[in-house]
Amino acid sequence: MSMEKGEGTPKGRDDPFWSSVASFGLDEVFVLPGWLEEQRGDDGRLQRRAPARSVAEELEALVERVGDCRSCRLCQERNSIVFGDGNPDAGVLLVGEGPGANEDIQGKPFVGKAGHLLDKILASIELDRGSVYITNIVKCRPPGNRTPSRDEVAACWWILEEQIEIMRPGVIVALGAPASRTMTGSTDGIGKLRGSIHRYGDIPVVPTYHPAALLRTKALKRPVWEDMKKLRKLLEELGLPRERSSVDD
Ligand code: URA
Repeated sequence: MSMEKGEGTPKGRDDPFWSSVASFGLDEVFVLPGWLEEQRGDDGRLQRRAPARSVAEELEALVERVGDCRSCRLCQERNSIVFGDGNPDAGVLLVGEGPGANEDIQGKPFVGKAGHLLDKILASIELDRGSVYITNIVKCRPPGNRTPSRDEVAACWWILEEQIEIMRPGVIVALGAPASRTMTGSTDGIGKLRGSIHRYGDIPVVPTYHPAALLRTKALKRPVWEDMKKLRKLLEELGLPRERSSVDD
């Protein structure tokens, strides 16, 4: 059956359609999206504003979109997609290289030896996992803890990009050469990148050595301490972290 343009739509205010609108009120006649239906104020009237989703909820929605990601070969041997951990509202984002064996099993970043050292480094400037959020440039473990390849980093990039978009951190700390290069877009080595503040868009990026490098080379302790003092000063200037809370809260 064909229908002429305009057929079936009300033409005049005396049309029965419009009288039903007038008697019921527009909100009852039109089917509203579920999220808008929820927005009734104390007086029962619709409050026409979109519900604010928390940063944690936005990240949860991103986890769902990532799903059982198969975008690169790292999916083949992984046990977990290690998305991130910490306080996403704090405004301080730490970005490492990629999950290791312990992280792959536990599903959390930096839980092995390098992670314990990272906790000590954070404590030296009065930070903890409740005052930062930690993630990696790739979310699945590169076999044998090798450095992730360029195509693996590229395949995973959209997730980190969206995490940053959702969290809008005030500062990004890049741990080690691959993370520092990814976040600054530079091909320089970490020895050259660290010591200055770079930018990812308008977000300051502080590159420093990876804690695993510190475990191997004690001489890197001093430059990391200098980077942490610089970070502390920057955080004070920016009034960060936004919230101080323990992850156990
Ligand atoms: N090294 C990283 O770069 N990330 C982790 O999550 C663990 C070790």
